[in-house]
This record gives sequence, C-alpha cells and structure tokens, in this order.
Amino acid sequence: MPALETEVLVVGGGSTGAGVVRDAALRGFATILVERGDLAAGTTGRFHGLLHSGGRYAVTDPAAARECVEENPILRRTAADCIEDTGGLFVTTRWDDPAFADEFVRGCEETGVPLEEIAVAEALRQEPRLDPTISRAFAVPDASLDPWKLVWGCARSAREHGAEILTYHRVLDLERQRERVVGALVENELTGEELRIRAEIVVNAAGAWAGQIAELAGCKVTILPGKGIMIAMNHRLVNTVVNRCKHPADGDIIVPIRTVSVIGTTDTRVADPDELEVTQGEVEEMLDEGEKLVPGFRKARALRVWAGARPLFSAQEVSDTREVTRTHTLLDHAERDGVEGFVTITGGKTTTFRLMAEAAVDAVCEHLGVDRPCRTQEEPLPGSEDREFYWLGSRVRAREPVPRSDEIICECELITRDRLKAAMAQRHTTNLDDLRRTLRLGMGPCQGGFCIYRATGILHEAERLDQRAANASLLDFLQERWKGVHPILHGDQLRQARLDDWIFQGLLAVQHLPR
Ligand SMILES: Cc1cc2nc3c(=O)[nH]c(=O)nc-3n(C[C@H](O)[C@H](O)[C@H](O)COP(=O)(O)OP(=O)(O)OC[C@H]3O[C@@H](n4cnc5c(N)ncnc54)[C@H](O)[C@@H]3O)c2cc1C
Repeated sequence: MPALETEVLVVGGGSTGAGVVRDAALRGFATILVERGDLAAGTTGRFHGLLHSGGRYAVTDPAAARECVEENPILRRTAADCIEDTGGLFVTTRWDDPAFADEFVRGCEETGVPLEEIAVAEALRQEPRLDPTISRAFAVPDASLDPWKLVWGCARSAREHGAEILTYHRVLDLERQRERVVGALVENELTGEELRIRAEIVVNAAGAWAGQIAELAGCKVTILPGKGIMIAMNHRLVNTVVNRCKHPADGDIIVPIRTVSVIGTTDTRVADPDELEVTQGEVEEMLDEGEKLVPGFRKARALRVWAGARPLFSAQEVSDTREVTRTHTLLDHAERDGVEGFVTITGGKTTTFRLMAEAAVDAVCEHLGVDRPCRTQEEPLPGSEDREFYWLGSRVRAREPVPRSDEIICECELITRDRLKAAMAQRHTTNLDDLRRTLRLGMGPCQGGFCIYRATGILHEAERLDQRAANASLLDFLQERWKGVHPILHGDQLRQARLDDWIFQGLLAVQHLPR
C-alpha cells in the first residue's frame, strides 16, 4: 500500500481545514490535507455567504459577536478578492418588536460591532425595494463572502508553502499506537486506491462530521448538526446584506451574491449531516419571510434551494440548536481523553475560520514543542495582494475593451471559453460540479440550462474526457442541479425547468446517452 509521511495531517477541506493547512504550511510544517470530496463541498460551500459584522450575535451570543468583530477587518485586509463590500443593514419591520432595536444598539456597543443608525429615508434610498414601513435602520460592516475563492485561495497559498492537498480522499480509519494517533488510512474516492498517511499530529477539521472522525480515534465528540436551508432568487433584490433587527430566527437575512440574492435560513437539529431534506413548509416559510423585508419577494423567481449543516458543539444536550453558541471550540484530546497526537477544531463560522485555524495550529506547535508565530493576520491570500474587493461589474469591465474577442459560455456568470479552459487545466478535473465551484459555472438564473452542454462539449473537445465520461459528467451535473430545483417548481421557475427539459430531454435526449 502506498504511504506518505508528514508532520501535520488535516482532515476536512472546508474553510476550517483550508485555514489550518495554510496556517500550518506558512509556519513551516510539512502538512497534508485530506478531503473526501472537492474542497468546500461540505457546509462551507453550502452556507449563506455572509461575512458577519457581528451584529447578528450582538445580543444573543456576545462571544461570537466579538470573534466576528475581530476577524471581519482581518479578512477584509487579507482576503479582499473573496469579499464584495456590500455593507449591511439591520432594519426594524412592523413584525419586529420595536424594543429590540435599543437592545441591539447596546449589544453592538458592548461587543464592539461598528454601528451607525441611519434615517429610514436614507435606508430606503439605498434599498428601494425594502418594505417602506420599516421604523429604524442601522448600518453595519456586513459583506458577502465567496467560499470557493476563500478555500481555494488558502489551498493555493498552502501549496506554495509545500503542503499537499488531497481532494477526493476519504479517511477510513485513524491509526493508533497505544494512546497516540499516528496517522490515517485514506481511500482515493476516484480510483479506490488506499493510502496510509503517517503524521505526528492529526487535526480533525471535519465540521459536522467531526464526531465521526473523533470516533475513529476512540474519542467521543458530540456534534449537533443544525440544518439550515437557503433559497437563491434570480435577481439582486437588494444590494446590501439586509437583516431583520430582532432575535435571530428563520428567514431573516437576505444576502446579495453576484447576480442573485439569497434568503435564509432555518436552524433544525438533524441526526445525519449527509441527510438534509428540504420540506415544502420550509420553502414557503422562507418566501413568506422574504415578503416581510421586500414586498413582492414571492414574485421573483426562486432559482434553487439547498441546505447545509452547522457544526455545532455543545458540552450539554440541547433541543434548540439556535441556543448553541457560534464560537469555536478546540478539543485537545491528550488533555481531554488521554489520546496524544490528535486535536479537534469545531463550531465557529466561516467568518472566523482564520481564528479557528490559528488556535488549532497554536495547539499543534505546543504538541510538537516548537514556537512559530502565526502569519495569517497580515499575509494576503493569492489574488488579494492588491487589497481590492471583488466588484460585481469586474467581469464585464474585463471584457469591455474587446467585447467579441472570446466566446461566452455561461452568460449568467460571464464565463468565457478561455476562462473555462484555464480552469479545466488548473483543476485537472473532469467533474463539471468541481468546475461549478471554481467558476460559479451554472449558478446564475438559468442554473446550467444554457451553459452546461457547452461546457461538456469543451471538456470533451479538450480531450480530457472520452464520450462516455463526458456524458456521465453532464448527467451527474444535471442530477445535482435538479435536487435543488424540484422543491421550488412553480411559476417562472417551472417554465424555466420545462425549457431545460426540452433542451436536455427533447433536443439532446440525455437519458439515452451512452455512459
Ligand atoms: C445554513 C447555514 C448558513 C450559514 N451561513 C453562514 C454565513 O453566512 N456566514 C458564516 O460566516 N458562516 C455561516 N455558516 C457557518 C459556516 O458555514 C460553517 O461554520 C463552516 O462552513 C464550517 O466549516 P468547516 O470547514 O468546519 O466544515 P465543512 O465545510 O463542512 O468542512 C468539513 C469537511 O470535512 C469533510 N469530511 C467529512 N468526513 C470526512 C472523511 N471521512 N474524510 C475526509 N473528509 C471528510 C467534509 O466533506 C467537509 O468538506 C452557515 C452554516 C449553515 C449550515
């Protein structure tokens, strides 16, 4: 069986694991990350997309608010290309308890969330679709955050510092020698090949699956997966992150992301983070709550619904997952369970992933008996060196001087043939869903209806795939997209789905393609 040796082995390729592998590599450790799917294929790629100012937690979870207050400016400095600086608003609607607004102001003052009350007229000028009956409005430094750019930025930086990133590698077992974890047995999910990785220390950053990984080392870590659903609407109904000014609840935030806006979210405890069913009731609730912020919300086309599982950690049993703090937890299994060479980093938010990584790698240093300072507070991610935020118009601007120079493959996300080919070459992947995560291919209003058969043809033409593999990749992509579309099939989205059906079943007869 092939074997690798390293100092640090990181399990999980979400924002936490990507942060840990980068931090460890920057501190000079030989590091390997293993992820069972693609990077950010877990909760990180299924989150709401909000770089928190801390406002959401200012009243109910001050420790989490303070962490966001600390990290928000650091990410703005070091990960600017992953951030669209939309700004955020907290507004009191007629459905909200007006007394909460004063509590909110006090909470922000106490936790250090930068806050400015603005006139309602000013808020409505900024966001004309907001319900005109709102009574108060507060500006905060919320923003929208691209998880794939963030995670791949960390991975690129880690690789530049010598780390190895093994996607599609699942941990089957952790190997123990007496009371010490000494490595892992992993399986390459694409080839079926098994691999042994020996490590001086293993960092469990498996998010909602961290309990399963800990169990492999004989440690009990109770993670309460908190399911949340989100719906992408086909327009930017708002250009600012808009939050209801009330105790955190379902469907009270709309985040503008690229060409769409996303409403979320719910919080329901589930048994298995791999089984996240979306119910019709949850969809209806989101749309109803959207109406309270933006009247007419339901008339926009709902493009896609998806769910993610929060990796919530609580030492005590709770029934309502909203009660669990959003701060992170570092579990040192040597101290806690008498198992050396193994730490778990869990909880937290994507907004605080860097802080979580710093805590985990500080623990690694302690275990390995070295003192190496963290550098991620200042060192920018690749692509963010100029500290310029992502701007929605940037792709159009990049094409403007010679508008017809390169064919557009995905009109919604303005992805050109050259960009697609460059991503194919860079990712070395034949999986269209991996390319989606890299480029946002097929994530706009047509949800792949017009672009994905073109992209399949280009993959085939580039001789990365034979005919059967290209067909399989197309069908897998369609199947994956369908999961997010079928719970919201009504109105214009139903029309779009019928059109897609005519294209894929009628014109291309995809169900008869040889695979
Ligand atoms: C609905 C929802 C909305 C959210 N919105 C926001 C938001 O707007 N802003 C914000 O800051 N935070 C938000 N969060 C929280 C945030 O998304 C999570 O805290 C964060 O993504 C967790 O990252 P992670 O890396 O710890 O976990 P994950 O991203 O889940 O990564 C863990 C990885 O471990 C991998 N793994 C599991 N088992 C194995 C195995 N055996 N071998 C190898 N790999 C394995 C999984 O495939 C997964 O990719 C939201 C969460 C939810 C659920």
